[in-house]
Formats: sequence, structure tokens, C-alpha cells
Amino acid sequence: MAASKLKLGRFSVGTGDRFAHQAKAQLQAYVKALESGIEVVPVWNKSNREHVIIGSEPASTRQAADAAVKALNWKLPYYCDADHITTLTVDRFLAPCDFFTIDVADFIGQPAEPAYTEAFVKRHPELHGSIELVGVDQPFEITRETRSATAQKFLAAVKKAGEVYRKIESAKGAGNFIPEVSMDETDRAQSPVELLIILAAIADEGIPVQTIAPKFSGRFNKGVDYVGDAAQFELEMGLDVAAIAYAVRQYSLPDDLKLSVHSGSDKFSIYPAIHATMQRTGAGVHLKTAGTTWLEELIGLAEAGGDGLALAKEIYAEALSHLEELCVPYAAVIDINPAKLPSAEEVRHWTSEQYTSALRHVEDAPAYNDSVRQLLHVGFKIAAKMGPRYINLLEANESVIAKNVTENLFDRHIAPVFLGRSV
Ligand SMILES: [Zn+2]
Repeated sequence: MAASKLKLGRFSVGTGDRFAHQAKAQLQAYVKALESGIEVVPVWNKSNREHVIIGSEPASTRQAADAAVKALNWKLPYYCDADHITTLTVDRFLAPCDFFTIDVADFIGQPAEPAYTEAFVKRHPELHGSIELVGVDQPFEITRETRSATAQKFLAAVKKAGEVYRKIESAKGAGNFIPEVSMDETDRAQSPVELLIILAAIADEGIPVQTIAPKFSGRFNKGVDYVGDAAQFELEMGLDVAAIAYAVRQYSLPDDLKLSVHSGSDKFSIYPAIHATMQRTGAGVHLKTAGTTWLEELIGLAEAGGDGLALAKEIYAEALSHLEELCVPYAAVIDINPAKLPSAEEVRHWTSEQYTSALRHVEDAPAYNDSVRQLLHVGFKIAAKMGPRYINLLEANESVIAKNVTENLFDRHIAPVFLGRSV
């Protein structure tokens, strides 16, 4: 496969900015990383789902990113990610984006044409028996049945990824964008053996994939910590990294291919495992966070007091009364306990400190409430509906919000994952 003109680099973090007002504060976190001696490439990601809910255009993400880069005189690469796009949604992302997360999860499990599956099996006699991987004690054992069953389950999805890739390539030209293939928004985790077989198929489709986002075991709910066994995650990630290294050599995939962890933000309990795996293997990672920057906007508004605090309370009250409707698009990735949600009346009496300590993700803080946090996380639609009322307050309270945005991204994500600091 020809080398891409654009390379993502070993370390990168995807960050969301729902209202396109925090790009500069976010970029400041990458500047802090550089000052700490580590190059982390910023990627601004926003899915079609978010654009639809907010009523924004992908070009606005590009404009905000470009403006931030100019303002801070950022010299390293940066990208705009068309997050979780499909053939149906990719069009309006083509011009402003240079990173495409091709989502084919919906096609997993749809049977591929028998001839296509047969050809794949014939083409890959090496995917059978014992496969030795560098840095792994136990070789992968692949039976004929595993290979056929995995091909059956994933080939239609990979073929679809090829179609989307070629659509983007014909618009932008090969090598002018970073392609990612994502399979995380599905019900079952992919095993490292499945990942290897999927990568063989991706290479067959001619996709010069630079990042691959499998679904890992455990739950990756939005904006809250990982639910699962961190040791198991570390084992799985190590095997995935080994499978990727093997696939890069065996199938001539881009040599900087790395895992993309669609974290949904705040997976503090597995950050040490991600850091340790990168240290041990020399692999890189793309850490995709979710739009929790919007929660830092709320924290900043609440901290500011006055009109800011009042609006933050109003957003909570509205979100609470639209609980079900707001949760529908995110049902698979949130876990709210309604019994833990305070009434709107109770919240109306909260001080700045009460609001921020309920919302700010400090796991052992007594007031931290993960149900409040998840409800507000999906509640951005309420703020979007407020339009200029919300935006004007963001602008009026820029400095207090920016401080929270930068600190959150650097101290809670970049520093633990890439510098090995504790959260
Ligand atoms: Zn994802």
C-alpha cells in the first residue's frame, strides 16, 4: 500500500466541541503536553448525530479548529474527524474533514456473499493453525471454523468500509486524509483473533487504515468511568497491539496503524493499562474522547455564579423533564439511575459548589453523581435549543470555562494516558 502523505503520529487525542467555542482552550491542553515533553496530535471529532441534534455543519468544526491553531500558533499537525460516518452521511464532511471514522458496525453479522467469503478463505491460508505474535507468550490458534465464522460475520462490514473509503478517496485523493475503521458501536466485543482477521480483510479491500477502533470488552458509557475488569482490558489491548503489528507486516498495512480507543471519555481506571501497554510495546494510540467539553462549559457557568449558575440549573431542570427523549439516541452507552437524580426543585437551591461537585468527575468526591453527569452529558440538545442565550453566556464567561476545559483535557486525559500520571 502506498505511503500516505498524511500521518497521524504515535500519540493523538480526539476531542469534541459541541458548540464550537472551546477549540482554543482544548488546544491549550496539547500545548501543555508539548511543554511536558510529549507530542500529542489534536483531532477534533464530531459525529453526524451531534451535528443533527445541534443543527450545526461540519464546516463549523473546521473553522473553530483553524482559528484555534492560528491563535496559539500551533505548528504540529491537527485534524478534523468525520466521526462515525457512513455512505449516507459522509457527503457534507468531505470538504472540511481530513480524518474519517468509517463506521460499519451496522453491517456486522450481515452475511457476505458466499463467493466473497470463499475467496477470502482461499486467499488467506496463513490465517489457520498457530500464529506466533511478537511479545505474546501464547500464539493465536485459528481453526478453519473460526476463520470461516469470523469471515462470515465481518466481511460484509469490511466490504462496506471499502465502499465508503473509495467514495472519500475519489473526492479527496489518496493519501490526503486519515482513514479509520470503527466497529465499536455494536453489541459484542471483537476478540484479538477476530481483529487480525478483520485487518486481513481491510488490507484486501485496499484501505490504508491508520487507526482501527474495535469494541473492547467492558462498558464504555459516555462521560463516566469504565465498567469492567481493567486487568482483562490490559490483556486484551496487548493482544490487539500484537495482532496489529503482525497485520502491518503480513499485509503491508501502513506502518503507523494503531488502535483507536473510543473511550466515551473519562475511562480513568484503564488509563494506566493504556499507558503501560504503550510503554511495553512501543505502540501508539488514538484516544477518542466524547463531547464532555460541554460538561466543562456547564461547570464553568455554574462556577461563575449569577446568570451562569441560573442557566446551568435551568438546563438540568429541562434535561430532567426530557429524560427519556434525550436518552434514546444514546441508550447503548449510558446507564442513568433515575433514583439518583435530584429534583429540579432541589437543584434550584444548589450553590455553585454543589452544582460543580455533583458534575465534576472526581470519583471519590462525596457529592459526585454519575447519573447527573450522564443526564447532562446527553442534555446538550437543551442548550442547543436555547441558542444565543446559551452562547452569549459562554462568551461572557470564557475565561472560567476555558480553565476548566484545558485542565480537564490535560490533567484527566492526556497526562494519565501519555505521561503516566495519576488522575
Ligand atoms: Zn465510537
